[in-house]
Amino acid sequence: MFPEEVDSQTEDSALHGGRVRSFKHERGNWATYVYLPYHPEEEFRELLEELLSAARAHGVLLTPQEEFHLSVSQTVVLRHHWIQPFTQSLRAGLLHCKRFVCSAGRLRVYCNAERTRTFLGMEVCTGHAQLLELVQAVDRTMTEFRLDTFYKDPSFHVSLAWCVGDVTEQMKECIQELQSLVDDHEEGPFLLRLDCTELRCRTGNKTFRFPLEPEHLT
Ligand code: AMP
Repeated sequence: MFPEEVDSQTEDSALHGGRVRSFKHERGNWATYVYLPYHPEEEFRELLEELLSAARAHGVLLTPQEEFHLSVSQTVVLRHHWIQPFTQSLRAGLLHCKRFVCSAGRLRVYCNAERTRTFLGMEVCTGHAQLLELVQAVDRTMTEFRLDTFYKDPSFHVSLAWCVGDVTEQMKECIQELQSLVDDHEEGPFLLRLDCTELRCRTGNKTFRFPLEPEHLT
């Protein structure tokens, strides 16, 4: 009978690693996305520092991601009472998905739909087919809950850092220079390797884990 109470909390991107809400934060509405976590090695952290300082020299101030991941869904809004059936549906859909490895090495600039955040990402070069299979399974759950499915032409990537606004053009001006830092890395071109052993679903402040099946269990 009464409208849902709206949280007075304003948008604070620092609270969610630069991901942007395109909806008001309302109590009972949970920002939700499905992803593969990336646990970076020391070499990656060093390279990221180099990339950020090179971008800074071009006047682009980037904030590193707090956690690194590869998204296989859009960020959608889930009502609290949907969380349980939603995660159950995801688990059922992912049951026979197998583990795999994917890698990324090419820098690319991404912007969110609202053009309020720009991201420096590393695009996937191997593992595309397996990622598409995961998206298909996740999309089935999204459709079941009438939520947005993933990009029709996805560019799978791990975002490294972000900044406020649409600075695509400035970033494109220095991307070649940044790419050469990746390519001329200490012992040959740096290749980000992602062991895809589990999928995760973050909803509000909760994280659900969905282990992928080891290859030999067929
Ligand atoms: P993420 O690191 O997964 O949060 O992605 C960063 C941003 O890239 C998100 O705001 C996405 O909307 C955006 N993006 C833009 N184009 C694409 C695309 N083709 N595939 C995947 N993400 C994209």
